[in-house]
Amino acid sequence: MNYSIIIPIYNEQDIIPELVRRVKDVIDKLDGQSEVIFVDDGSADSSFRLLEENHKKDSRFKLIGLSRNFGHQVAISAGLDCAIGDAVVLMDGDLQDPPELLQQMITKWREGYHVVYTVKKSRKENALKRFAFSSFYRLMHTFSSISIPMEAGNFSLMDKQVVEVMRKMPERNRYISGMRAWTGFKQIGVEFDREARFAGKPKMSVRRLVDLAIDGLISFSNAPLRLAIYAGVAVAGLSFLGAAYVIYEKLFTNKAILGWASIIVAITFIGGMVLLTLGVIGEYIGRIYDEVKHRPIYVIKDKIGF
Ligand code: UDP
Ligand code: MG
Repeated sequence: MNYSIIIPIYNEQDIIPELVRRVKDVIDKLDGQSEVIFVDDGSADSSFRLLEENHKKDSRFKLIGLSRNFGHQVAISAGLDCAIGDAVVLMDGDLQDPPELLQQMITKWREGYHVVYTVKKSRKENALKRFAFSSFYRLMHTFSSISIPMEAGNFSLMDKQVVEVMRKMPERNRYISGMRAWTGFKQIGVEFDREARFAGKPKMSVRRLVDLAIDGLISFSNAPLRLAIYAGVAVAGLSFLGAAYVIYEKLFTNKAILGWASIIVAITFIGGMVLLTLGVIGEYIGRIYDEVKHRPIYVIKDKIGF
């Protein structure tokens, strides 16, 4: 076996026939054997049935069925755990990631790169979403403790050595692009234009994208904790100045203490800072709690073709 292609699927029944057709075209032309691992992430439509039928027609298409919806990043992890290829490719199931790029990625892999990630030259999403994505990547780039390339998402090829390392990473809050960058090795990017979704609506709601962004930032950076410290120091500095001013007023002017307004402002401001800091700390504690529970990351219901 040479290539494994992992594709997470969540309610994509309208896309599956076209997806299978395009992936098949690509793997037929590759210079080795391929397996395609679909991970059905608890779809409620007929995705699972379609994929099952597809396996009967062509046994290179395998299928993992998760017991419920676990989320995109976890579905990919389930696929990674079952892949046996020398090179493993991660790809979205909505044809936003063109399978035809595979050939180019494999060429780079053959040149000796362990990770070939893809960089989105352009996107078809609306301006607001594009802005949000690029701000996120910039934030990650600035604050994370490892260098995570800009605009590099899940769509990528990894050598089996890298996959081996990824499998050993037990964290529950999974941010695949960050984990992939963390592994090190020789990494290179290839550029591509991100297509629009082939059919249907995005399955990642804005809320889940924000959650993923927070996962990424918190798993790969202590900057938010540091932010709390800086904010604390800034507030303390301000209140010190305020105190100096009040003392000055008391000693050297005969203005009555105006009091009320300034006290309320100070109290609410400090209260806000305390809550913010607690929130940041709570976020880390929540993650520690998640990790120490030691639950499995996903639960497999069906495994077809392995
Ligand atoms: N997906 C999944 N589980 C989820 C959400 C999405 O397996 O809970 C799959 C989805 O079917 C698609 C891929 O992950 O193949 C990317 O999802 P989507 O296109 O909705 O994300 P976006 O492109 O908006 O980041
Ligand atoms: Mg998509």
